[in-house]
Amino acid sequence: MRDVVLLGSTGSIGSQTLEVIEAHPDRFRVIGLSAGGAHLDALIAQANAFTPDVVAVPTPAAAAALDGRLPPSTAVWTGPDASGRLAALPCDVVVNAITGAAGLEPTLAALAAGNTLALANKESLVIGGELVTSAARPGQIVAVDSEHSAFAQALRAGRSDEVRRLILTASGGPFRGRTRDQLTDVTPDQALAHPTWNMGRIITINSATLMNKGLELLEAALLYGVDLDAIQVVVHPTSDVHSMVEFHDGSTIAQCSPPDMKLPIALALNWPERLPGACRPFDWSRPIDWHFEPLDSDAFPSVELARRCGRAAGTAPAVYNAANEICVDAFCDGRLGFLGIVDTVTAVVDEHLTGDANTAGLSVDSVLAADAWARGRAAELIEVAR
Ligand code: NDP
Repeated sequence: MRDVVLLGSTGSIGSQTLEVIEAHPDRFRVIGLSAGGAHLDALIAQANAFTPDVVAVPTPAAAAALDGRLPPSTAVWTGPDASGRLAALPCDVVVNAITGAAGLEPTLAALAAGNTLALANKESLVIGGELVTSAARPGQIVAVDSEHSAFAQALRAGRSDEVRRLILTASGGPFRGRTRDQLTDVTPDQALAHPTWNMGRIITINSATLMNKGLELLEAALLYGVDLDAIQVVVHPTSDVHSMVEFHDGSTIAQCSPPDMKLPIALALNWPERLPGACRPFDWSRPIDWHFEPLDSDAFPSVELARRCGRAAGTAPAVYNAANEICVDAFCDGRLGFLGIVDTVTAVVDEHLTGDANTAGLSVDSVLAADAWARGRAAELIEVAR
């Protein structure tokens, strides 16, 4: 029986994690749930279904709304650090499925407590960089992202010194094949209609701009200790091949399964062992076409921008992520055009990399300061452009 703490339980990854757990009551027990407070009815239903020891929410208002609606044995913790305290509870695995930079402190808390961290919240690894990798013992972080789970599975096929390249697949999002000019007038509704995955709002927009692939590039380099130049992004529209590892003898090992996050979630919960029946396999009695094409970096410059931020290291990845979160909000509210997302993030990153803003040592404080600066600067640039 594995005791599980689940952060971000009401989101897309959080609720799918609970579906996996519900299907295996003999293997997993939920001891803690946390959420941001925007979906309290869902959180209450989850707490009543799984009777965790603790439910954590960031604000007193959210805690007050839970009063009298949870199982009597469930304690409520509140405060901005509540998810971090929950992540430090003794348990077998902490799933961090919070979205955005708010996941950093819980990631560090889980690692400091020695818990295995099933990481969906790539942002915490990307912005924390070495702060996170140096806090983790080998194998302590297990990837939930399907591409990084694919790398972990494919890497089992050889030794690390036999790896030549990681091939990171990208669906290309809903606007694959468009030129930059053809992206000018796309709407939030169009951007939210992802062709292969059903996900939360930020990651769905990030998939349309390919900012998500930029974050994943940085995530892969940090997780597997591979040089950024040894990671190639390849567009694969159906998201059946989740990523590949190329070895130095010319062999490429791919991990494939129909697009279903329950597979990487189940593997992360039960790592290193597979969970039987985690997802439906392919039906090989029908024709299947798998198509791959190079990424169009003119129309989608976000991956190269991420590469630049990864090379600059320091707080540049935090700036990339934070400016983007502000731009995604502005785009969804109709205050910024689609192309304005990556253009604004580029302007904020350029400003950050000019001068000595990126030379301060990496610490939680410097990451949070860069994050706050980038949010403010992106908001200013968006206002000026209106
Ligand atoms: P959602 O937006 O669907 O869910 C986010 C979750 O985080 C919600 O439960 C939300 O609670 C919670 N949350 C937000 N702020 C806080 C906070 N301060 N404290 C505690 N909880 C908080 O996101 P997704 O599930 O799509 O994505 C989660 C993470 O997983 C992201 O990092 C994403 O990049 C990654 N990921 C997602 C994939 C997917 O298929 N969705 C695939 C691979 C990676 P509430 O809404 O109740 O306030």
